[in-house]
Amino acid sequence: MLDEFAFIEQIRRAVDAAPGVSLGIGDDCAALELPPGEQLLVTSDLLLEGVHFRRDWTTAFDLGAKAVAVNLSDLAAMGARPAYLVLGLGLPNDFSEPDRQALIEGFVGEAASFGVTLVGGDTCRAQQFLTLAVTAFGTAAAEKVLRRDGARVGERIFVSGTLGSSALALQQLQDGRLPVAELARRHHRPTPRVVLGQALAAAGATSMIDISDGLLADLGHLLKASGVGAEICTSDLPLDVAFRREMTDSPELLQLALAGGEDYELLFTLPAEKESLARQAALEAAVPITEIGRLLPAPEDLWLVDSHGQRSRPLRRGFNHFSTTS
Ligand code: ADP
Ligand code: MG
Repeated sequence: MLDEFAFIEQIRRAVDAAPGVSLGIGDDCAALELPPGEQLLVTSDLLLEGVHFRRDWTTAFDLGAKAVAVNLSDLAAMGARPAYLVLGLGLPNDFSEPDRQALIEGFVGEAASFGVTLVGGDTCRAQQFLTLAVTAFGTAAAEKVLRRDGARVGERIFVSGTLGSSALALQQLQDGRLPVAELARRHHRPTPRVVLGQALAAAGATSMIDISDGLLADLGHLLKASGVGAEICTSDLPLDVAFRREMTDSPELLQLALAGGEDYELLFTLPAEKESLARQAALEAAVPITEIGRLLPAPEDLWLVDSHGQRSRPLRRGFNHFSTTS
């Protein structure tokens, strides 16, 4: 079994030198540069075996990549440019050496594909469960930081990409089925909308959040922060082909698009006069965006509208780790 320091050396060798990193892995701290005049944006996400993933449902490589992606998604949702990553690892004895190596390759590869550098971390032996704790650092000009509290009545609500596929893949795994590749990939290898996030901030989006807990839950956070309500047109929700196929026999799967979670798409609001700029930004980022509803005056008031114009209240909003009801 490779010892801790040999493993850290392996990680260090997997990471290329990068601009901005005065001192990377190997000392007590990393020393990092920031673009002049920009703010530092910091976010952190835990991935716990048995809570967020199962080792028998994912590969170590995909897990490493996903740990990066979910953190970059938070930076994307602020309109930030991702720059640096820190990785805390709790490794159980039965996590093999090839798996460790694959985890690092997945992590470093995903980071590199977004121009982001792993600059440090901590590595410990864990009793039983594999644990990844990732912190991501990004930068943005202060006036371009896109928060949750800027949505205003009359603006339109948009999402990037498609909804529900990750949750459908997870549901199928839980039911003992093997999801088709198109769905499985959405669950195991989400794509953070990094370029789109920055482009939308520049185009004049007024608020933004990434969808990790489900559309309605994350919309709820945005509505609360902004002090507005919303109506969502359920027939306008963007869905993958494989998701639509499953829905023909099981229309109740729409719930997964509304409340499923782990989409890692961007949910954002736009005043009418910024719409064409935002659509241009989406074209350039090569990520589709879809209008799904509009903002209403009553704070946190949430309505669903179906294709017949029928209004209803949502059944449940989404995932909450400490909730006793959902
Ligand atoms: P210390 O005891 O000073 O915390 P460590 O032995 O834990 O130092 O770490 C040595 C170096 O290796 C540090 O620069 C640390 O940031 C880096 N490091 C440790 N674990 C990881 C990891 N999982 N990923 C990236 N860098 C790591
Ligand atoms: Mg340490």
